[in-house]
Amino acid sequence: MRRSAEVAVVGAGAAGLVAARELLREGHAVAVFEKSGRVGGTWAYDPRADADPLGRDPGAPGAVHGSLYASLRTNLPRELMGFSGFPLAGRVFADDPRTFPGHREVLAFLDAFAVDSGVAAHVRLRAEVLRVRPLGRGQGQHWAVAWRGEDGEVVEEAFDAVVVCSGHCSVPLLPKIRGINKWRGKQMHSHNYRTPEPFQDQSVVVVGLGASGIDIAREISHVAKEVHIAARYSEDRLGKIELYHNAWMHGEIECIQDDGQVRFAEGSSVSADTILYCTGYRYHFPFLDLDGFTIDDNRVGPLYKHVFPPKYAPNLSFVGLPYKSIIFSSLELESKWVAAVLSGRAKLPSKEGMMADVEEDYQRMEDAGKPKRHTHTLWPRWVEYLNWLADQVGEPHLEPRRCEMYEKALKCIWSLDEGYRDRWEEESIGSGSP
Ligand code: FAD
Repeated sequence: MRRSAEVAVVGAGAAGLVAARELLREGHAVAVFEKSGRVGGTWAYDPRADADPLGRDPGAPGAVHGSLYASLRTNLPRELMGFSGFPLAGRVFADDPRTFPGHREVLAFLDAFAVDSGVAAHVRLRAEVLRVRPLGRGQGQHWAVAWRGEDGEVVEEAFDAVVVCSGHCSVPLLPKIRGINKWRGKQMHSHNYRTPEPFQDQSVVVVGLGASGIDIAREISHVAKEVHIAARYSEDRLGKIELYHNAWMHGEIECIQDDGQVRFAEGSSVSADTILYCTGYRYHFPFLDLDGFTIDDNRVGPLYKHVFPPKYAPNLSFVGLPYKSIIFSSLELESKWVAAVLSGRAKLPSKEGMMADVEEDYQRMEDAGKPKRHTHTLWPRWVEYLNWLADQVGEPHLEPRRCEMYEKALKCIWSLDEGYRDRWEEESIGSGSP
């Protein structure tokens, strides 16, 4: 017999919305808490930036959640950004039919998804979760959720389970740079980058070669005097970037020299006006203070398959932690899994079994020399993860065509070519390396 639980979902971004849909479908009762005034999370472009351009204090009054820049278009084709039964492909939601649409299109898609799925009626807007704590013997059979509503009043409510979907692209992850105290120029994290104009005629060092770093470096190069990209794994591409008239690829930043210049791993150095960090984000759950559950060098854990903390499973779970995969598919499959485990339709191993699996994963990473902070990166084993989730809930494996599409998108991003989004249908472009 299926069990039905009362479930609190923290956050109404893409993860919270699809988690709520799957929980409702499985027969659970759901309350979605969303601290902002709308659903959509990251995809609600926020023109504001943090007072501190490095965004070092996520608890600062008015700290901004969103990290999108004004010109942002998806880095995956729309076919890889829909949910089952509610595709983004083949339909237009905000007058932007492009294969790689702008952020407004994705936000309108999520708005429509919330309504179509019936989830919208379960969302409490301007309801910020302040604390989530286990009730009873502390093993997480029941949970107390303290939240603050629009009127400022704090209320605590009991739930059987909590699904954390609060996102992880809001709090900058900043590298430690030797000699940074000698730096006299500006510093900013991409979390606070919105438009290229402030970089007019500047010499800018962009740190990081992820999707955002590549997009932003390219956009800035149209107005800046010079753009210098500092990146790991760039050895085979050092020097002038042919595609741009004013951009160079370097190794990692080695240090800031005594004369204030930025020195790169390959030995070259430049004078610059700004260092712009496109170095990703750190996980941050200010409302959770749980025994034996930590964030260590950006490893959230222990977590069984990135979703269940063994000690508190199945009534505490996380949807949306892993990255470098078809994100919307992993959000949906993780959500189906959580919903099925809560109803008893899917089974988890014993707590010891889950811990052993986590330890095995950690050991595998250590043997491969991977730092802890890469724990939640799915690439290159992302297909294995999605198919494993699919097996848990009786869903079909990922179609090979979609796998190929994702790998092609990654190659396109790494190719640094500005036009890949608009040429997608016609050709397969260049290849790069991670
Ligand atoms: P979010 O969208 O961040 O939603 C979390 C929600 O939780 C927010 O609404 C927030 O207000 C709410 N919240 C947080 N804390 C609390 C609290 N205490 N109480 C109540 N509510 C709370 N993915 C793709 O698939 N394709 C792309 O092209 C793509 N491009 C991206 C570009 C950028 C610059 C960034 C930053 C991300 C991009 N992503 C992309 C990844 C993107 O993060 C995911 O697509 C997806 O939006 C993640 O959804 P989420 O619900 O996990 O998090």
